[in-house]
Amino acid sequence: MGGNNRGSGTSALLVNELKVGATPQSPEAPRAVGLFAVILHRLTYPFRRGARPAPHAATGFYTDTTVCIGCKACEVACKQWNQLPSDGFEFTGNSYDNTGALTAESWRHVKFVEQFSPHEGEPPTGSPYNPFPTPDSLTTLASPQPESPARFPLDVLPTPSPAKPDFARWLMMSDVCKHCVTAPCQQSCPTGAILYNEFANVYIQADICNGCGYCVAACPFGVITRSHFDGHTHKCTLCYDRQKDGLVPACAKACPTASIQFGPVAELRERAHRRVADLRAKGVDAKLYGAEATETYSELNSFYLLVDEPEVYGLPPKPVNPWVHMRGDYLRSVAVGVVSLGVLLLSLLLAGG
Ligand code: SF4
Ligand code: SF4
Ligand code: SF4
Repeated sequence: MGGNNRGSGTSALLVNELKVGATPQSPEAPRAVGLFAVILHRLTYPFRRGARPAPHAATGFYTDTTVCIGCKACEVACKQWNQLPSDGFEFTGNSYDNTGALTAESWRHVKFVEQFSPHEGEPPTGSPYNPFPTPDSLTTLASPQPESPARFPLDVLPTPSPAKPDFARWLMMSDVCKHCVTAPCQQSCPTGAILYNEFANVYIQADICNGCGYCVAACPFGVITRSHFDGHTHKCTLCYDRQKDGLVPACAKACPTASIQFGPVAELRERAHRRVADLRAKGVDAKLYGAEATETYSELNSFYLLVDEPEVYGLPPKPVNPWVHMRGDYLRSVAVGVVSLGVLLLSLLLAGG
């Protein structure tokens, strides 16, 4: 698990794990004394603002899907830490993944994408890319890799191509809120329930959410849903409470392969680019998703390393912030209003004449 905390910016987080347990609780604020003081306190308390938190470098996730083993420890850790209720248990019948989707009760979802050779009935070739082991491939698997001596060659994943048509693989990807740098959910919320916290993470204040569902429609990744339990929307908080105490988010802490890496985003991006270069040098078609802004969408502070097209993982290949289209919509609305008014005035004039 120490692999989640690699790098100078995140190494201090490890030390904090033990310190936090020994930290005394902060003393309670002095209570008002006397009836008038109590009434005054109750009337004014909701309008008081606490001290603004100190700004912090933006934090996020870099998820390296090539080393995800689909254990779902991240899902369980998230449920446990955040005390999320069960959203039922059903066999989906189409995969070993029975979580199905991100919901207000499942803030992490490990996708199992199954890809098998189109040449049905043909025996596996035993190439180093083939997961069905032959004596030769077992020898290859057992050999330390010169580039990465501590690891088995999880790095070497097949990339379907006419030259290598026979393959079978599961792509595992732990999905979560992308903590978009410019988040449509936050832009669309009419009550101000969604905000950016001091870590530049997108955070829903459920008690201010009125359950209108605008954010559900605005998110291009289908992350947010409304809870059947309380009617509010919920999603990953990037473990704000843990970060406040200097701890790694529960999912990243639980991930045994460092597929989920947490830390300052700038550091994560550098690490991810190095990993892509390393994989490409080994012939793997690795690419980052969300690490850079596009014409229609901002960077994602929770970004991914993929080895296939985004749509294979159920991600939109070109996410669009609905706001991009709304300027035109506003202009059209104003134009239609002006024309309607003109027609109305003209009708009145003609009727009067
Ligand atoms: S992924 Fe969706 S829910 Fe998460 S910040 Fe972006 S728009 Fe909001
Ligand atoms: S950061 Fe925390 S809330 Fe978000 S998915 Fe991980 S464990 Fe869940
Ligand atoms: S991201 Fe990590 S914890 Fe989650 S399923 Fe993959 S390997 Fe397991």
